[in-house]
Amino acid sequence: MSSGTAVANQGSFQDELNPFLAMAKRFDVASDHLGLDSGVREVLRTPDRELTVAIPVLMDDGSTRVFKGYRVQHNFSRGPCKGGIRFAPDVHLDEVRALAAWMTWKCSVVGIPFGGAKGGVICDPRELSITELERITRRYTTGIMDILGPDRDVPAPDMNTNEQTMAWIMDTYSMHVRRTTTAIVTGKPLSIGGSRGRAEATGRGVMISTREAMRTLGLDPHESRVVVQGSGNVGGIAALLLHREGYRITSISDMYGVLNNEKGLDMPAVLSYLKEHRKLEGYAEGEYSSDCNQLELDCEILIPAATENQITSRNVDNIKAKLIVEGANGPCTAEASQRLDQAGVMVVPDILANAGGVTVSYFEWVQDRMGYFWTEDVVNSRLEQTMATSFQDVSSVAKKYDVSMRIAAYILAIDRVARVYRLRGVFS
Ligand code: GLU
Repeated sequence: MSSGTAVANQGSFQDELNPFLAMAKRFDVASDHLGLDSGVREVLRTPDRELTVAIPVLMDDGSTRVFKGYRVQHNFSRGPCKGGIRFAPDVHLDEVRALAAWMTWKCSVVGIPFGGAKGGVICDPRELSITELERITRRYTTGIMDILGPDRDVPAPDMNTNEQTMAWIMDTYSMHVRRTTTAIVTGKPLSIGGSRGRAEATGRGVMISTREAMRTLGLDPHESRVVVQGSGNVGGIAALLLHREGYRITSISDMYGVLNNEKGLDMPAVLSYLKEHRKLEGYAEGEYSSDCNQLELDCEILIPAATENQITSRNVDNIKAKLIVEGANGPCTAEASQRLDQAGVMVVPDILANAGGVTVSYFEWVQDRMGYFWTEDVVNSRLEQTMATSFQDVSSVAKKYDVSMRIAAYILAIDRVARVYRLRGVFS
């Protein structure tokens, strides 16, 4: 859907599900609080650059197919653009635009010197072989290469992309520029310039955010039931680390269904079962259901860590959690967020809660450029410090302006970027 169509149909449920409109709504509220000048507002609302590429690929059966890919750079005033690349059949431009803008705000909230970008390729990775995926990745990288670079735009993994995808991107870029350039992507395997702690960083950041929020709310982790939507790199790791901290994980899901256990799931066992069987179904210590409204289960803490638009105006009134920590990008629509605020539910917003990933991406980029690699303890303690400080910064803004954590995070982020515009001026 183009943003033009979306604006024409304002008010429909379809609009509620448009991530770019959802981003813009929060941006406008935060900008009003800041009394942002209309020129700067216009600049920050507009993605800087949008590239659409055709990706012709030779398939294993000898046929040729043309896929479509995007790279959107939202803003680079604070530093090189940064953001993941996702592979999914339903990727669309407004989604990539929103995700790129969210990266700008996310990097600003945690104070790392990057702007925001995002990429996407319309394809269904479940239907593609590993060699087809490699060819798509390499051709897509070649297509967007002119706007990439360690000082220009640095991709990372996102939905359905991983360390291997990053290794292919790094190799493709390096072959074109005739030198191994590790700092061109983050989230790489350790042996080619990856960082210790990067793979777990987003989940670890979600765990730290949950812990900070629980302290603010005065809730006891040992008395708390946690429902986690998603068991991948974000949900699975967050659940594991929270379990280690004494939280009771009563529900976790994969793309096929939900595994529940009121007494609490043994997360190391659940994750090793998942690794072996590639699904939760069949795990003995819990009830599995392929037909469960997981988000509406009784719990204190809800961690949506799967995808966008999970909590909408249609199900928000059935949510029981007191605390929502957004592991995914954009899991609550703007309408649902407002209702959650009115109901007194604390929401730690995506641009804060899941910023652990890009924070350690920044550490990886720094290590690649220094050629000096840190221990896992150093990475984790710097991550801990960044996340805890950012949580406190957002809380202070929330108190000062008497707004939700989400609007506070936008205020903090937008203010930092707007200050850069005032200092640098608008180049004309
Ligand atoms: N895709 C992740 C995100 O949405 C990580 C981005 C990065 O490390 O650049 O935050």
